[in-house]
Parts: sequence; structure tokens; C-alpha cells
Amino acid sequence: MLGDQLNLDNPALNGFDPEQDCILMVEAPAEATLVWNHKARIALFLAAMRHHAEVLRSRGWPLRYLATGEHTHASLYAAWQTEIELLQPERVCICEPGEWRLMQQVQQLKTWCAERSCRVVIEDDSHFLISSTEFQAWAGTKRQLLMEHFYRHMRRRLNVLMDGSEPWGGQWNFDQENRGAFGRNGPADIPAQSQFAPDAITRAVLTLVEERYADHPGSLQNFNWAVTREQALAALADFIRERLPEFGKYQDAMWTDQPFLYHSLLSPALNLKLLNPREVIAAAEAAWRSGAAPLAAVEGFVRQILGWREFIRGVYWRDMPHLAAANHFDHQQPLPKWFWTGATQMACQRAVVRQTLEHGYAHHIQRLMITGNFALLSGLSPQAVSEWYLSVYVDAVEWVELPNVAGMVLYANGGRFTSKPYVASGAYVKRMSNYCRDCCYRPEVRTGAEACPLTVFYWDFLRRHQETLAANPRTVLMVKNLQRMAPDEIEAVATYAESLRKNLDQL
Ligand code: FAD
Ligand code: SF4
Repeated sequence: MLGDQLNLDNPALNGFDPEQDCILMVEAPAEATLVWNHKARIALFLAAMRHHAEVLRSRGWPLRYLATGEHTHASLYAAWQTEIELLQPERVCICEPGEWRLMQQVQQLKTWCAERSCRVVIEDDSHFLISSTEFQAWAGTKRQLLMEHFYRHMRRRLNVLMDGSEPWGGQWNFDQENRGAFGRNGPADIPAQSQFAPDAITRAVLTLVEERYADHPGSLQNFNWAVTREQALAALADFIRERLPEFGKYQDAMWTDQPFLYHSLLSPALNLKLLNPREVIAAAEAAWRSGAAPLAAVEGFVRQILGWREFIRGVYWRDMPHLAAANHFDHQQPLPKWFWTGATQMACQRAVVRQTLEHGYAHHIQRLMITGNFALLSGLSPQAVSEWYLSVYVDAVEWVELPNVAGMVLYANGGRFTSKPYVASGAYVKRMSNYCRDCCYRPEVRTGAEACPLTVFYWDFLRRHQETLAANPRTVLMVKNLQRMAPDEIEAVATYAESLRKNLDQL
């Protein structure tokens, strides 16, 4: 049982017979150090695994749990081999891993086991609402996939927010009503999130991580993530009651020192499988039916779970392993150092990186339009950027992290599922947040010491790619705006962008 498969209906347990079967769970140090993981991400996985182990033990199910420090296997694969030699099973059942890398190891194990008359059975992951095979059948041979088409397909298929064959409210999406910004005074009365005081198991894990992974980034001071199914259900109920009604409206808004706003904070529990997407969607739908939340908010939220989350997983399996190496724009810049410290003068980047280090969390628009936007516009290497996102977020698992980074943020796959690169100047940040108020740069300035780096890089990005952007109906207007600038100003921006690119650490 892998560390992100902590559901009791895990298909690896189908037909489990405590009289003769045994569950194996391994805390492998290699999994914690594969990338330079945030301490909270390591702690979350270990705490959730250890609580799940307790549940299995309380059922009287035989469990071999190899805890950190109590075994010498560096990798999962090494532990599997040793345990299989020891236990001599006839059959090993495993739910398909969420990562391509681990799937390769399971396939390798299959061959190794076959030589020992042991059969490895890989079960489809029933946590998801569509299997990888069904997704491939839906996708067919199309080069470009659109999430909107997939989402409508899933709404019909699972009869979610449907009135017969039509969407409830007569519209498939309510984007016009969603995605507002806060006024000058910012958000009022954001409901506090649920508090999960660490119990003895979690406290032991926090101590272990502080000691063993002391040089890893991030803080454990604010660790407050659900690590049991009960806590995950409490977090879901709290979100539905307190924040869902405003979720859609402020989905894209950002505000200094307000890391969570009206977001659900459910991605870690979902990705560990402590929550099932079906129950999350059902709870949101029930809130709308009872009048507790407006349709626009509920649809906006359902779109994330039923649409984006499932779609992203589908494209991951469709495009791996090429996706990991994709680099459409041939961007090669290394990550500036401040990505690991937050020590930058850019108020927007500083806010998001610091919050990320404090909590292991940033919401979608912060990941996409603040750090992600900077990464694309300044030409950072997709592989370096992807490694950072995989390291610093508590919800990071490659099947969801990589397509978001390489596909959505960096356009590194050449637009396999986005109709345009997501780029914006400082004007967007100014509109959607209060970050620019505290910044030494000015979002409307394009050259000189006060020029906002996002704005400089944005116009230079348009200049460099104007031919392709002009041919795309979704970006042609951007190019028209560029063409309104005097040629010598375009030239000055290009020169200034080049000088900034050489000094990313100093921004
Ligand atoms: P909410 O805003 O409350 O959204 C509800 C749920 O919808 C989330 O919990 C999540 O399960 C799902 N969701 C929303 N957007 C997406 C999306 N684009 N892809 C997949 N699921 C989505 N999500 C992860 O779970 N793990 C990651 O490693 C991850 N990396 C990302 C990297 C980048 C560059 C970007 C742009 C997005 C990434 N996301 C990732 C998606 C999204 O940002 C997070 O799921 C979300 O911010 C989690 O916070 P929340 O639970 O409060 O989400
Ligand atoms: Fe960010 Fe530019 Fe605004 Fe500063 S001025 S906060 S760098 S967008």
C-alpha cells in the first residue's frame, strides 16, 4: 500500500483475507529526498500513513509497517524485494501508482516476481472518476484536448448538476459571476479554517522530520493538515458550510497575509485518498440543493474536482514520459535563489513564496499567475520549475503537479491542453490583489529602476512570440496592443528585459 493510497476501499485490498494475507507499508527515505521536499510535505505523508496503519491494526489486519529509522532500505523497491523474499507470497496486489516513475518500478517488480513464481496484480485506481483507459478512449487521437469538453462529458456521464440532458441553471459555467477581486479594503471576515491539533502520532512525526530533514525547506510551525479520514471529513464539512458560498466569487482573488481565503484546502486529503471525490462533489451539490450555497459557487467548485482534477490525471498518463522533458520555448534559466527563501523585492513573489514556505500551500491563481507567470515570462527551465513545485506544496504528487506546471503554467508541451500561454503583466496582479501597493516596482512602468519585472518580461514575451500569438484568436489582441507601442520603446523593453534576465537573483 503506497503512501498516497490511504483509502479503506483501496482496490489492492479487494478480497483481503486476514487469515492468510498481509499488508505492507513502507516509509522509504528515498521518497522524502527525491526532490528537496518541504518539511510539511514529508510530515503530512508520514503522519497520514501512520494514522492509517493504526486503522488497519485496529481491524486486526496483519500489517508490516516499515517506519523511518527502523529499516535500512533506501528505496521502496528494495524494501518490496526483501519483504517478498521473506514472506514468499503467491500473489502481490497493488493499486496502480499515481506516478509514472513508480509504475515503472511496479512493472520491474512484476518481472522480478515472475521469476520467483509470484504474480503481481495491478488494480485500477478506483478513487478516480474515470480510469486512465477510459480517459484515453475519450481523448482518442486528438492532438489538443480541451478541459471544457471533458468536463461536460463528465457532468453528463455522472449526472452531476444536470437537469436531464441539460446543465442546471441553463449554463455549463458561471465564469462571469465568479472570479471577482476584493475591493480596496480587502476581504472581510474570512472564516477561520478547522484546527487539527497534532496528536501523539503527529507530534512524533513532526519531531522526526525536524531532526532527520533539518536542512529541508519550509516550516512546521503552522502544520494543521488533516491526517486522518475523520479530520478530512471535518475539513470538508467546514468548507461546505463556511467558505463554499463565496468560493466562486473570489476564486482568483489574492490578498497579503491571507493565504487561504475561501479555498477548500482539500487537495492534500484528496490526493492522499483520505477523501473520495464522489463524496466531495455530492456534498457541494447537496449544499446547492438545500440553498446553502449558490449554483455559481457550487459549479465553480465542482468544475475543479470533476473537471480539472480528473482531466489533469488523464493528460498525465497520456503524455508521460515526454511531458517531463518537454520544453517548447527552450527555456534554460535556473531558478533564482529567492524561490527558496522569499527574499525578493517583488512584493507579489515575496508574498507567495513566503506563504508557501510557511504553510506548504498557495492557491491556484498564486501558483499560476504569480510564481508560474514569473517562471514562464523570465524563461526558467521547466524541469527546474517542476522540481520546485513538486518540492514545496503539501499536495504535490507528480500526476497532478507536472501537467499543471509543464502544461498549464509553462506551455512547455506546446499547448496540448491549453489554448494559449497564460501570461499577464503587473496590471493583472494589481487588479486581482493588493500586492502592488507594497512593492518597490510599479506595475504600469516598462523600463527603468521602477519598472515591474512582470510587466517588462510580459511585453518582451509578446515581442519574442508575436508571430505565433498573432495567429491565435485568443492572443491576437495582446499582439495588437504591442503593435501600438513605438518601435524604439519595444526595443528599449527588450534591452531592459535582457538585463533583468541576467540578474534574476537581484530582483
Ligand atoms: P480549491 O481552490 O479549493 O479547489 C478545489 C479542488 O479542486 C482542489 O483541492 C483540487 O483537488 C482541485 N483542483 C483545482 N484546480 C486544479 C488543477 N488545476 N489541477 C488539479 N486539481 C485541481 N494541485 C494538487 O493537488 N497538487 C499539486 O501538486 C498541484 N500543483 C500545481 C502546480 C501549479 C503550477 C498549478 C497552477 C496548480 C497546481 N495544482 C496542484 C492545482 C491547484 O492549484 C491546487 O489543487 C489547489 O490550489 C489546492 O488548494 P485547494 O484544495 O484549496 O483548492
Ligand atoms: Fe508584483 Fe510588479 Fe506588482 Fe511588484 S509591481 S507586486 S512585481 S506585479
